[in-house]
Amino acid sequence: MAAEIIDGKAIAARVRARLAGDVTTLGARGIRPGLAVVLAGDNPASQVYVRNKTAACAEIGVRTFDHRLPSTVSQGALMELIDRLNRDPEVDGILVQLPLPDGIDARQVLLAIDPAKDVDGFHPENLGRLLMGQPRFVACTPLGVMRLLAESGTPLAGADAVVIGRSNIVGKPMAALLITADATVTVCHSRSRDLPECVRRADVVVAAVGRAQMVKGDWIKPGATVIDVGMNRGADGKLVGDVDYAAAAARARAITPVPGGVGPMTIAMLLSNTLASAASRAG
Ligand code: NDP
Repeated sequence: MAAEIIDGKAIAARVRARLAGDVTTLGARGIRPGLAVVLAGDNPASQVYVRNKTAACAEIGVRTFDHRLPSTVSQGALMELIDRLNRDPEVDGILVQLPLPDGIDARQVLLAIDPAKDVDGFHPENLGRLLMGQPRFVACTPLGVMRLLAESGTPLAGADAVVIGRSNIVGKPMAALLITADATVTVCHSRSRDLPECVRRADVVVAAVGRAQMVKGDWIKPGATVIDVGMNRGADGKLVGDVDYAAAAARARAITPVPGGVGPMTIAMLLSNTLASAASRAG
């Protein structure tokens, strides 16, 4: 049987429509959510991401405050900007687009963001809270994946889940969320001994590696749910995921496409976190 295609684009559109309603409700209470967007340097992919995030904010009525900085920006200037944004009452969320230019210590910058405005969920305090089962802001991509799993009706309690990738912004928070949802979680990475065998046991596979089509179709357990976080440019310039989609779809119960799967959810969750921050800061 053909796999259900988990339509992240449609699910994200529904989330954004609900959030637009929330913006109206907040507006009636005099609250206008605002997101500061910091882009340093001229990385073309970062420029596209920032444009998409800003457009998504505008679409639902969230204000954005753009801060474009040259690639020569100093650590000090960036830290000063973060400090100013932390104290600005109009700013509910601060997004610093990664990667930062060479010579900038990104860890220091992320650490400087007020955890109460850290709508990307990258601050150690927010990651720690997630690990302790007391989440505040959760990283947008894993949060979006959880929503896709829920929408696809994938049971998580007791399920064997494999997360491929252990980055602080995707793999680790993803594993924490799945543990909280009572899955039995295996995290694989570049030193894992037998990745295909790990994946073969999994009822849920989340691939977050950044290697085009590295997860092969015959690794997928029949009936599994496959979530492909990867975004890679193929030789023809097209976007492809970490999973060999056609072969995996022949075995999976449900699968996300690339593009149109996880990507749109990441932006929807950023909006959701920003609104949650605005509501909470307004009491
Ligand atoms: P990182 O490069 O930070 O992490 C990649 C992870 O993959 C690492 O843990 C690495 O292991 C692991 N890895 C590398 N090679 C292998 C291998 N051969 N076998 C098993 N594991 C391997 O990437 P991110 O987590 O930031 O992003 C992952 C992917 O997701 C990228 O394609 C990125 O573009 C995409 N992405 C998509 C988003 C979206 O909205 N759709 C948002 C964020 C990311 P090790 O730790 O040992 O080095």
